[in-house]
Amino acid sequence: MTTFNDFGLHADINRALAAKDYTVPTPIQTQAIPPLMKGRDLCGIAQTGTGKTAGFSLPSIHHLLTYPHRPTPRGCRMLVLAPTRELAAQIAQSCRDYGRFTKLSVSTVFGGVPINKQIRDLAQGVDILVATPGRLLDLIDQRALRLDDVEIFVLDEADQMMDMGFIHSLRRIAKLLPSRRQNLFFSATMPKEIAHLAEQFLNDPVTVSVTPQATTVEKIRQFATFVEQKEKQALLHSIVASEDIDRALIFTRTKHGADRVVRHLAGAKIKAMAIHGNKSQSQRTHALQAFRSGEIKLLVATDIAARGIDVSGVSHVINFEIPNVPEQYVHRIGRTARAGAEGKAISFIAPDERPYMRDIERVTRSKSEPMPLPENFNEMVRNLPKPVQPPRDTGSQGRNPQRQREDAMRGRGPGKPGGDRGPRRDGAAGEGAEGQRKRRFRPRNKSVGAHKGAVKRVG
Ligand code: AMP
Repeated sequence: MTTFNDFGLHADINRALAAKDYTVPTPIQTQAIPPLMKGRDLCGIAQTGTGKTAGFSLPSIHHLLTYPHRPTPRGCRMLVLAPTRELAAQIAQSCRDYGRFTKLSVSTVFGGVPINKQIRDLAQGVDILVATPGRLLDLIDQRALRLDDVEIFVLDEADQMMDMGFIHSLRRIAKLLPSRRQNLFFSATMPKEIAHLAEQFLNDPVTVSVTPQATTVEKIRQFATFVEQKEKQALLHSIVASEDIDRALIFTRTKHGADRVVRHLAGAKIKAMAIHGNKSQSQRTHALQAFRSGEIKLLVATDIAARGIDVSGVSHVINFEIPNVPEQYVHRIGRTARAGAEGKAISFIAPDERPYMRDIERVTRSKSEPMPLPENFNEMVRNLPKPVQPPRDTGSQGRNPQRQREDAMRGRGPGKPGGDRGPRRDGAAGEGAEGQRKRRFRPRNKSVGAHKGAVKRVG
């Protein structure tokens, strides 16, 4: 069996791994670390929960330590791009953990928080920068950051980046990177357009793939209840009352729907919080912390907000609404049954959602066990407590005219995904057409002058 000692990682990294009690590498680590240590490019098909963060950060930290030099002012040696703030923060924390016995500096930049501190953090340059694409480009445009000294470039959750309309931003970023660099590309799924994107970024990559979807799903007990849409809230209350829940993630399709579920639960004096793209950064951080610490047991989330979040001890995933893309279902239920623990997924299926569920069962090659409605369900529906009224500013779209106006100005209509707040020059508008254009990246090694010229606003 492979152990971490077999990789020949820097002693300071091995110390950090021992401190974290990691002894056996996960399959993606076993496959990815040796070629990465040799400087190869890598295309990893893996989702969060497989240990991919250590898979890419350990050999990268090893490289930074083996070839030590100070980062250039406003520069970074390793750049990791992630689609959401939560994932960016999580990756940065992992890098700090794995590099805790080294002097490497780690910074995170994402939208929704003041930019000035981030500008100051970057002034001296950093070893590892974890960023979301929108804020990264803002910093570049403000001349607070340059990418011409990046040695290692990691693109994480590429499929979600595409879903969120970041393709245009990725193209801009790629043009600013030096041509000599190591590239790592991760995606949970590899449909054609993602494979095409990977080709554009990678140079003779090693491909590694872990956890075929069916295997992930096998560890999770899946249940399905057929219920009318308008009766789902009563079903949720009944499940919260009857199941032995440590932590449950409840998924809705829309941000508005997530807020509604929370208000209904509050009406029944059940504590829950929502996390979605229209919540302020501090609301999102607070909700996640409360969920992590056990202060709340129920977190209601949209798909985009929840992707990549790694919270241990999630005993239940409840699909309040069924996703219309089967892969999304796999991502959702993958939040439970972490690290070999048993998890339970319960799907509420309204009549018009049955076709989605059939697609899901086909793709996952699994079938949910039927979970009947509780005996006194009609009575529960009749006696469902009224939801609490929304506070003046819930941070939710549809309830905040100011935010609606801002979103309209950014070209984000209601219901469109929006994970990375802040000026969205790279917003979703027009991404469809942009995504169709098959242009190849030609990363060039630029002088500072050329670099400045290249960051003029496009589109
Ligand atoms: P990731 O897929 O990178 O988000 O990692 C999922 C979780 O697994 C994180 O909580 C990591 O701390 C943990 N983890 C990663 N690699 C290992 C390992 N080799 N042994 C034990 N836990 C690990």
